[in-house]
Amino acid sequence: MYDAGAVIRPDEAYVTQRDPSEQLEHIKSRVRDIPDYPKPGILFKDITPLIGDGAAFRATIDLLAERVRQRSPDLIVGIESRGFIFGAPVAERLGIGFVPARKPGKLPYKRVSESYALEYGTDSIEMHEDAVHGRSVVVLDDLLATGGTAAAAIRLCERLHGKVLGAVFVIELGFLGGRTKLGGTHVDALIGYDD
Ligand code: AMP
Repeated sequence: MYDAGAVIRPDEAYVTQRDPSEQLEHIKSRVRDIPDYPKPGILFKDITPLIGDGAAFRATIDLLAERVRQRSPDLIVGIESRGFIFGAPVAERLGIGFVPARKPGKLPYKRVSESYALEYGTDSIEMHEDAVHGRSVVVLDDLLATGGTAAAAIRLCERLHGKVLGAVFVIELGFLGGRTKLGGTHVDALIGYDD
């Protein structure tokens, strides 16, 4: 198995030596609220300032990697597209595989599909039928809102005979109650908003 805690690259020292609560404040300060996007009434959490700030991005990956490591999965399943931005570096950090759960029509091989309701609209996601192969996974995305997207990803993993050990997010909109849609799945988020 991997031991991702064993190696700290020299240029990681800035982030890893900071207090985690200070890191979380830094991360939170880089999430920008966009009112009425993409529809009236939606307060969109824009993570582009966060990933555009090297220290904040690295702190986010550090903290996500810590949460995922606690579950010890074989794979990370990242949800398109912001789940790729965070999921792939975490998988690389832990030395485990990364599986993309993609929007319809993007995957070239045989695929399975699940539909879900979004906070704004409906959509579906697909995974390659051989992507999980009975291995253990953590599902990772940038944000948990109503929970429909993550629930669909979990259903896909289970249909592919994967063992879902948890779901990890950068942001949770707790007031939408999304985690109740994820059944018994262990849910973890770095930062939460209660209103
Ligand atoms: P949901 O299925 O309602 O939990 O929605 C989660 C997915 O939609 C994630 O992939 C998010 O990137 C995106 N999303 C939903 N609501 C928001 C929001 N208020 N701000 C940013 N992204 C959102």
